[in-house]
Amino acid sequence: MKTIGLIGGMSWESTLPYYRIVNETVRERLGGLHSARVVLYSVDFADVERLQHAGDWAAAGELLASAARALQAAGADFLVLCTNTMHKVAPAIEAAVAIPLLHIADPTATAIRAAGCRSVGLLGTRFTMAQPFYKDRLSERHGLQVLVPDAAGQDEVHRIIYTELCLGQVLPASRAVYQRVMASLVARGAEAIILGCTEISLLVGPADASVPLFDTTWLHARHAAELALSQQQGGPGGGRPAAAAG
Ligand code: GLU
Repeated sequence: MKTIGLIGGMSWESTLPYYRIVNETVRERLGGLHSARVVLYSVDFADVERLQHAGDWAAAGELLASAARALQAAGADFLVLCTNTMHKVAPAIEAAVAIPLLHIADPTATAIRAAGCRSVGLLGTRFTMAQPFYKDRLSERHGLQVLVPDAAGQDEVHRIIYTELCLGQVLPASRAVYQRVMASLVARGAEAIILGCTEISLLVGPADASVPLFDTTWLHARHAAELALSQQQGGPGGGRPAAAAG
């Protein structure tokens, strides 16, 4: 079994499910007392959040690149960045290490295509919803058509992530906001919704929308565990994952 390197703490509320899911998947596959081989580098999210909102992505990239180097030195065979937003600095992380980074958008898009959906609504931080780094990967590499909430909807979704979910607060009033935003994406043609922030599945589930929800936390962690268990270099689907090329 390969060793998974988790870059977590963004926020730690969503790193907990990653740890649980990789271990549950290994137990399910191997049985008995088997559990995942994991090394975790958990950052102080306050540092990351400050750099995000200051727009200092170069410093944020260097911070996560040094976490990646530490995980490589600790024996990780590949890296899992436990946040959608910080995939904005995926190139800086990939440049810092020789081991692959499993990009969160790839298993997500693969699951959506396998379900026969093409038009998807994307919920996440404002960075993820508004900037091209994530949407373009979904459309250019995976052929998805991505819809995002209007400006007011993005503000609400973003605010709830940083002021509630990353602090462990799960409020019914905020669930109602997300239900409304998802319904408006469906009305505009979304056949599925990407929970494109690793805390969102703490707040909403399948009963909150009329279309399938694709939870990036579950899909990413599950894919990581399957890769750890696979014999091939590139993972269960065969071949190296796109983000690991080079
Ligand atoms: N966990 C979130 C995400 O998946 C937001 C926190 C962050 O900015 O990293 O995007």
